[in-house]
Amino acid sequence: MTTGFIDAHNHLQATGLESFLEKVIPACEGLGVARMIVNGITEQDWDRIKELASRHGFVTPSYGLHPWYLKEKKPGWEKRLEERLISDAKAHVGEVGLDLWMRDPDLPSQIETLRHSLQIAERNRRAITIHCLRAWEQLLDVLRSERLPARGFLLHAYSGPPEMVGPFTELGAYFSFSGYFLNPGKEDRLASFRQVRSDRLLAETDAPSMPLPDIHSEFRLPGAIDGETINHPGNIRAVYAALSSLRKVDLSDLVKICTENSNRLFGEA
Ligand SMILES: [Zn+2]
Repeated sequence: MTTGFIDAHNHLQATGLESFLEKVIPACEGLGVARMIVNGITEQDWDRIKELASRHGFVTPSYGLHPWYLKEKKPGWEKRLEERLISDAKAHVGEVGLDLWMRDPDLPSQIETLRHSLQIAERNRRAITIHCLRAWEQLLDVLRSERLPARGFLLHAYSGPPEMVGPFTELGAYFSFSGYFLNPGKEDRLASFRQVRSDRLLAETDAPSMPLPDIHSEFRLPGAIDGETINHPGNIRAVYAALSSLRKVDLSDLVKICTENSNRLFGEA
């Protein structure tokens, strides 16, 4: 079994990281990143993810339609998504989800896309990675009314109420901790991650998004995206370090726990 740091959710394919990849990838290998789940946000970046997975053994591809970009959704996406899964036994579904924080959310379209994605993941026995902002009750309703993937699903960068960790856990949720939660004012996020069951815990960078506060960042990249620092996926080690002190568990034990959880949810790398 490969052990090392597992970034349960990032966007290595993002244009914001493209010009840095020649340095970013060796840096991640050097610090012991064993695996990253690289998530699509529009159909346009699915080919790029496939190419990254074919070149780098630590990349696990995941294909999805992010709620922020649903206007770009083209008819027939469900069939094309399913074909990708059928042709690649290691591929998963995501990121997809519900977002009432964004400007002008189209909730019916988000729910329809999520339902179809859940059905495709369940039918093909894959994991699904779910994004949710300020739509927790709606998400619970959708999850309770669909057949869910038997291996479970990931609520990435879980920012829901601590008291909803239990109900989502019962449905098969895994929860990934984001270094962004180390910023001031995120105490309720930390409270949630103190109570997540050890067998449902993961960690992520969401790079190039959701940068850690400067004091925690181990790697820095020049420039900015929408005025925000570009997050380097190598910061996963710093995310693990912060989670290990939050949970009062040794870093080496946390690496083992997250590896087992990732293997159960996403299959062995
Ligand atoms: Zn993401």
